Formats: sequence, C-alpha cells, structure tokens
Amino acid sequence: MIKIFFVSHCILNLGSIVKQGGTQSDLKKRFIRLALDKDVQLVQLKCPEFSVYGHLRWGHTKEQFSTPFFIRECQKIAREIAGQTAEYQRFPDQFEILGFVGIQGSPTCGITLTCQGFSGGELFQDTIIPPARKLSASGVLVDELRKVVDFPFYTLQDAIECIEKL
Ligand code: SF4
Repeated sequence: MIKIFFVSHCILNLGSIVKQGGTQSDLKKRFIRLALDKDVQLVQLKCPEFSVYGHLRWGHTKEQFSTPFFIRECQKIAREIAGQTAEYQRFPDQFEILGFVGIQGSPTCGITLTCQGFSGGELFQDTIIPPARKLSASGVLVDELRKVVDFPFYTLQDAIECIEKL
C-alpha cells in the first residue's frame, strides 16, 4: 500500500517562503526524514504566494490575500489536488491518502492558525506590524482545499505524530 501526503510547497522548497522567512525549518526536516524512513510519498502543491507575488513579498495577512485573483489561484490548485485525489481513490487497495500538511501561521497554508488583519503584516519572522495578528483560523488555500477534498488536514507537528504511528 502506497501512503501519500499532499504537502505545502515550502515543506520541500524553502526557496518559496517570504524573504527573510525561515519558519518551522526544524519541523520540516523532521517530517521529511520521517516520511523518507517510512516510505511515505510527498506530493508538493504549488506555492500560490510565490507564483502570484514572487520572492520579494513580505508576510501578508489573510485579508490582504483574500482577493478574487489570489483565491482563483488557490482554487486552481485545489481543483488539481481534488482530481489527483479522485484518481488515487479509484484504487483503494493500492493507495492511501493520509491528508494534507500545511504551515501554521501562514495566511495561505495555515491549518488552524493564520495571520489576520486589514493592514500591517509580518515583515520578518515573528515581527508582526500591528494591527495584523495571529488568529485561530485556516489560510486561503486550506479554505479552498477543504471545499473539494475530504481527507484530513495536519499541522507539521501532527503529521510527524501521524507518521510515527505508521
Ligand atoms: S504560501 Fe504556503 S507553500 Fe507558499 S510559502 Fe506560504 S506556507 Fe509555504
């Protein structure tokens, strides 16, 4: 049985994160090593922030990214993943989709924690310019994914615990 995690792009490519970023890199390394050890396959989603705003963007908030253009980009990614999921699920004896692993605190890939506010943002790691703030909610891409897939959503920490039990 081939086990598969869909993952946020920057879990495998730190080059996509915001300039001066670097969040959760130790957790990412632990997760990747465990996945390799346990033969869990990782399917990397496209990074919508990088493809829409590029490398020189700074950390925005969910409200700043909630434009029709950015949501459309996330919907395209979500539809692609829904299609891949449907194909794998045609062969339940061969594939098991474990879920999606996101990035806590991201306005795009946050699972239960995002950055919210109508102005301000996160210029450097852990340097939040008021009135932006971290709040319990999911990011824009995760919202769109949840509309079209039925698999579980994991933080990096929870995904590590999930793989450890395999
Ligand atoms: S949008 Fe998602 S994949 Fe891209 S850098 Fe942010 S958390 Fe990582």
